[in-house]
Amino acid sequence: MAEKEKNIQELLRCFHEAAAHPAKQMEKYLSEGRKVVLVAPVYTPEEIIHSMGMVPLGVWGGDLQLDEAKKYFPAFICSIMQSIVELGMKGVYNGASAIVIPSLCDSLKVLGQNWKYAVKDIPFIPMTYPQNRKPGFGRTFTKAGYERVISDLTRAAGTVFQEDKLEESIGVYNAHNAVMRELPGVLCAHPEISAAERSDIFKSAWFMRKEEHTELVKSLLEALKTEEAGQKKKIPVMTTGILADAPDLLEILDDNGLQIVCDDVAAESRQYRTDTPEGEGTPLDRLAEKFAAMDNCSVLYDPEKKRVEYIVREAEAAGAKGVLVFLTKFCDPEEFDYPLIRKACEAAGLPCVLIEIDRQMENYEQARTAIETFRDLVQ
Ligand code: SF4
Repeated sequence: MAEKEKNIQELLRCFHEAAAHPAKQMEKYLSEGRKVVLVAPVYTPEEIIHSMGMVPLGVWGGDLQLDEAKKYFPAFICSIMQSIVELGMKGVYNGASAIVIPSLCDSLKVLGQNWKYAVKDIPFIPMTYPQNRKPGFGRTFTKAGYERVISDLTRAAGTVFQEDKLEESIGVYNAHNAVMRELPGVLCAHPEISAAERSDIFKSAWFMRKEEHTELVKSLLEALKTEEAGQKKKIPVMTTGILADAPDLLEILDDNGLQIVCDDVAAESRQYRTDTPEGEGTPLDRLAEKFAAMDNCSVLYDPEKKRVEYIVREAEAAGAKGVLVFLTKFCDPEEFDYPLIRKACEAAGLPCVLIEIDRQMENYEQARTAIETFRDLVQ
């Protein structure tokens, strides 16, 4: 194996290690004497936590059997929420200083309230976002929410907030956003990288300090750019949804020769579209500006649903032959958007298929059949 290819394999192995073993990552940071703060989906102000000297660690639940969490949730609520509480009750997050949970959907609101009773040792910090995030009053509301997070973090972890540190952390996060935005385009030229490997790169970002992850992604980008483009021919597709990290599901994409050339997945590219702007205002003001500027997401209020056209535009720009909608079961925000996405895709002549997914799914045969039919349609 050529030296360059070995380097790429080594980098992919690092991403996989972090993505597959978040508990190990947490242990590592705790053993280094760092404090860890859990960050729930979908948009938590990680920059604030980072600026206060702590490690924000993503919690998106896990593919496990629900047992204890059933005492707190009805069956018809998304499994991401349920499995976060299940893992909390099982002690998987022991050692974390707090959990920050944003209020961006009804399930997340319930998660915060249940967490307080189910996992008493890890303090719950709410991040309450406004519905109308763009007008001045919305930005003031967001900033007040951030101030509340800062004072709760100070109380829970005993750490101090400093504006100049937040300025530095904003730089770290903007730099990470830049490499993550570049990544999908570079991966397009390398169909030999599997859907699972692509997922590992995105997923590992949740469990690593962003400066470390940026360096790894930069090294991968450099290595891939100087490596000859892969010869393997695959069918380019776009994915959309909240989460798309189940190994069995990703294997079906690879088995069917599908290559994800762009995504609108909340746990993946949606995170990196918007930077905190530079310029006037305090760092906290500009962080609120960032939230105001975010768009094209099911959990961000938009009566015009511009996300729908965004998906079509992105798919066409990346040369995708179709769109795979990974719908997390019982996710209301995504369920509301789906009929509009389907209609817009149909109007643009883009085949679109719905695959319902769940953290507890053991059998992917139905998904396999749907993806095989989709492949036949687009190839
Ligand atoms: S946005 Fe959907 S998947 Fe995410 S927490 Fe809310 S209901 Fe669950």
